[in-house]
Amino acid sequence: MEQKDFVLAVEGLSVSFDGFKAVNDLSFYVDEGEIRVIIGPNGAGKTTVLDLICGRTKATDGSIKFRNKELTRMKEHQIVHAGVGRKFQNPSIYEDLTVFENLELSFPRGHSVFGALTFRRDKQVIDKVTEVAEMIFLADLLHQRADLLSHGQKQWLEIGMLLIQDPALLMLDEPVAGMSVAERKKTAELLNRITRDRSVLVIEHDMQFVEDIAHRVTVLHQGRLLSEGSLERVKNDPKVVEVYLGH
Ligand code: ADP
Repeated sequence: MEQKDFVLAVEGLSVSFDGFKAVNDLSFYVDEGEIRVIIGPNGAGKTTVLDLICGRTKATDGSIKFRNKELTRMKEHQIVHAGVGRKFQNPSIYEDLTVFENLELSFPRGHSVFGALTFRRDKQVIDKVTEVAEMIFLADLLHQRADLLSHGQKQWLEIGMLLIQDPALLMLDEPVAGMSVAERKKTAELLNRITRDRSVLVIEHDMQFVEDIAHRVTVLHQGRLLSEGSLERVKNDPKVVEVYLGH
């Protein structure tokens, strides 16, 4: 199959934990600029799929190609370097630093002889921090300490810390959990805006949010692909109805 238009091509992916197949012969393809949402009941394998893509868990079988580069043989930091950013459920921001400093610290530093903690307050960094702060609705709070931000603002800050690194694929695990309705709307706006030049892979349970962002939905069940397509299509798929009514 021709793969040049896919940012991500997952083929025949499997992983076993002590003989239990958490992901079982899974294939799916994400287009450049697409927002793909993965849904499925608890234990379906959603988090494990993201763990496999970012290199945290190693596949037992199958292939994961990101812009035609095979990720299954790469280490976690090499995958980040290749352009895959992953946000976990709990924000890992520096609470005692400002919004500006959190974003600045995430700026890719290369292999400077000055080491990782060298601050490079040059124009390029300041411009990028300002651009990202606008995107994540925190432009007016650049000098606020992160611990004073609301839960939603902390989540946006962490998305911003990934955007500073310009990933071509951004992976988010339940990004709107615990957010207010207004914050959910703004998060949808944020994701829709950033996919002009990148793709997003999201695990989500909130169906209103899925409707607001998903270009296509992949439904997992017991580690396998159960259904795929528009939200409308998968919602009406009898296999999906059966699994969700059964839980
Ligand atoms: P989901 O995110 O869809 O709720 P997970 O990917 O977290 O599902 O888990 C899928 C299945 O794999 C679950 O049954 C879980 O207990 C199991 N699992 C996940 N990670 C591990 C692990 N490191 N060791 C053993 N079992 C695991």
